[in-house]
Amino acid sequence: MEKNADRFRAARTAGFTESVIREMTRLALRHGAVNLAQGFPDFPAPEALKEAAARAIADDRNQYAVTWGAEPLRRAIAAAYMRFYGLEVDADAEITVTCGSTEGMIAALLATANPDDEVVLFEPFYENYGPDADLCSARRRYVRLRPPDWTFDLEELRAAFSPKTKAIILNNPHNPTGKVFTADELMQITGLCLEFDALCITDEIYEHITYGEAMHIPVAALPWMRDRTVTVSSASKTFSVTGWRVGWVVAPPEITASIRKVHDFLTVGAPAPLQYAVAEALALPDSYFEDLRSAYSRRREILLKALQEAGLACAAPEGAYYVMADIRAAGFGDGDGLCRAMVERVLVAAVPGGSFFQNKSEGAPWIRFCFCKKYETLEAAGRLLVEGLRKI
Ligand code: GLN
Repeated sequence: MEKNADRFRAARTAGFTESVIREMTRLALRHGAVNLAQGFPDFPAPEALKEAAARAIADDRNQYAVTWGAEPLRRAIAAAYMRFYGLEVDADAEITVTCGSTEGMIAALLATANPDDEVVLFEPFYENYGPDADLCSARRRYVRLRPPDWTFDLEELRAAFSPKTKAIILNNPHNPTGKVFTADELMQITGLCLEFDALCITDEIYEHITYGEAMHIPVAALPWMRDRTVTVSSASKTFSVTGWRVGWVVAPPEITASIRKVHDFLTVGAPAPLQYAVAEALALPDSYFEDLRSAYSRRREILLKALQEAGLACAAPEGAYYVMADIRAAGFGDGDGLCRAMVERVLVAAVPGGSFFQNKSEGAPWIRFCFCKKYETLEAAGRLLVEGLRKI
């Protein structure tokens, strides 16, 4: 069997590790801990969406939709880009509906990157991007985001680009740090894309979750970037339906044509009835999106206060729904060990910072908490942390 294990293990999977985010969810379930690890809400999805989905099933929208997305959803996505950002998107030629942004990202890379092309990634990174690059046999080049503001050094970024660079993957607002890239930073990034004839593949799944003055600027709206930007987003976070698996990719027609073919062979299509429901969701009034932001602001305040009381140091995120906490402030040094002890003995699950770094030890001083949870869940987790961390 040992021999078989080697013989039947494709080399492209050799560098893969189990997702620690999902492992932490399993540990939280096993120990009955509050799950502030994996980023999914514990509160209900909006009633209007659940009704729309039930109606779509009752109306027999139960067979394959057009492989690149049901027409009403593509029209609704195009309308949303116009409404929120003034961006004109052609629903017929520039949109592919995918099984979540996870499929969107891998389909975009498979459609554009050749073996040995280079892909630039900011580190810390969301844990799927590295394996996504590996599945295309592309090479990863890392550029560090440095605390406390998680800024990058322009010279370091420039040094990561070369004639071999096919794309930079940007996640904005950023998981795990909560950073929202400023207009200046985005101009520096896109300037290099133009100079090195590279794509920007931008994961904007947290586009509607920003705080205070922070403002989400889509890369596709920046000068000269429309033709070299692949935007990935999803209904998951904006409408609290991470299990629906409805995402999309917006790209110029010639890139979309390749992405659609990859998508067709990968999955044929996203769940048809849920596509009709998301089309309705995207047309919800502005008040829905304003309420989403204010509810998340309150959740952010509850968690930040608790983490500070528990002795952890953290900067307030500007977007998304994660906080990176520096555990050195509370006398710890090993995020992995701390998360494993916490889930068992404090009954709160978080993600070790090492999950977001290539060299795990560089993430050791950090752990990530998510706050996409009910106020009372966050308050309960806060009490457990303030009480329990002292005893570890
Ligand atoms: N994006 C979420 C997170 O980072 C969920 C990840 C996942 O399990 N797909 O926690």
